[in-house]
Amino acid sequence: MEDDIDAEVRDDLDRWAAEGIEFIGRDGPRQFPVTRAEALDRQQHFVVHRLPHFGRPDEMVARDPWLAHSGLSTSFNLGLLEPLPAVRQVEEEYRAGHAPLSSVERFVRQVVGWRDYLWHLYWYLDAGYPAGSHSPGRSSSLPEWFATLDADSVHARCLSSALAAVRDRGWAHHAVRQAVLGNYAVQRGWRPTDMVDWFQRAFVDGQEWAMIGNVAGMTRHAELGSVTTEAHAVSGTHVNRTSDFCGGCRYDPKQRVGADACPFTGGYLAYLHRTRERLHGNVRMTRALKQLAQIPDIREIVTQEHARGDRAPSEGPASAVRKDPDPKRAELPRCPRWSGPSLPRPHPPRGRRAHT
Ligand SMILES: Cc1cc2nc3c(=O)[nH]c(=O)nc-3n(C[C@H](O)[C@H](O)[C@H](O)COP(=O)(O)OP(=O)(O)OC[C@H]3O[C@@H](n4cnc5c(N)ncnc54)[C@H](O)[C@@H]3O)c2cc1C
Ligand code: SF4
Repeated sequence: MEDDIDAEVRDDLDRWAAEGIEFIGRDGPRQFPVTRAEALDRQQHFVVHRLPHFGRPDEMVARDPWLAHSGLSTSFNLGLLEPLPAVRQVEEEYRAGHAPLSSVERFVRQVVGWRDYLWHLYWYLDAGYPAGSHSPGRSSSLPEWFATLDADSVHARCLSSALAAVRDRGWAHHAVRQAVLGNYAVQRGWRPTDMVDWFQRAFVDGQEWAMIGNVAGMTRHAELGSVTTEAHAVSGTHVNRTSDFCGGCRYDPKQRVGADACPFTGGYLAYLHRTRERLHGNVRMTRALKQLAQIPDIREIVTQEHARGDRAPSEGPASAVRKDPDPKRAELPRCPRWSGPSLPRPHPPRGRRAHT
């Protein structure tokens, strides 16, 4: 898909790197559209191949980072595509019987709902907003291994895989950004402004307007409740429920203390403990705080997570993986990858499907 302009850009990047400018991430073939024609082709590719499966976007699957996601955020953000015509096309697919209502509804909600809502919220709230965000409990800067995408130094499979995705593609889908990357940063108490800066710079679709709602708001719970009323921190058991990462990890999502304790499970409980006074009275956190009060070994967990601190979770050999007795999601459909309009790739025949 790459052309002469890509080659020129690559030359410039190589020259700047040689002159001492430091970049994060690995160079690789371009995976996102940069022209209107490419963007339209990718939209068409999504509509034909992925839209019918779009109803399950909260899942995380190690072997398939794209799943049924559209990969259209960069095209919307660069102005190569307009959200409304994209939504109209998707609606037409439903009316023509090519895609189920659940998938179409979900896409419409993502674009007209979340994207538009957060865009307008940004202008409504004032552009300088994240800088003044408050921060519950401790507040520290991002550690080097996380900031520089050093996936190889991390043995927690979910986190290593998420950092590798950003390192290699500059992109990971929503659940990975939220439940893995954002979640770990929240649990460790990393500064909201540092997280905003990192998310904006490390991702191909990084945009200032998307930071207030997604990072300062939903992920960091640091914007005083205009986007969300609860903290979006989750434990390793949640990651296990929504992904197939844990089956091949050297940690155990059910263990909260000890050598195999999952850093997300221990980290979640330590986070709740640290912020319990601030979260007290928040009705959406009542259940979580009640459960916290029943954890007998909370002191031990807090001590353990304090000792783990901001270091990369890498205790023990990465190879010491547990065998998953119940490998999940093997049956997920594999969506073909978009490889650019210049490569011939026939779309499948568009017969009317029997979706309800
Ligand atoms: C911590 C965090 C940071 C994020 N930063 C950005 C960002 O800088 N720029 C950005 O465009 N999106 C951001 N998002 C939202 C969302 O994760 C990406 O838009 C999406 O993953 C892009 O992949 P996709 O195009 O395949 O999305 P799909 O899953 O195919 O969704 C379709 C479209 O819906 C829109 N959309 C869905 N959810 C959101 C949302 N919460 N906010 C904004 N748009 C949404 C996007 O335009 C996306 O292309 C962020 C989410 C999180 C949790
Ligand atoms: S066990 Fe914990 S660290 Fe390992 S993949 Fe699962 S959630 Fe991540």
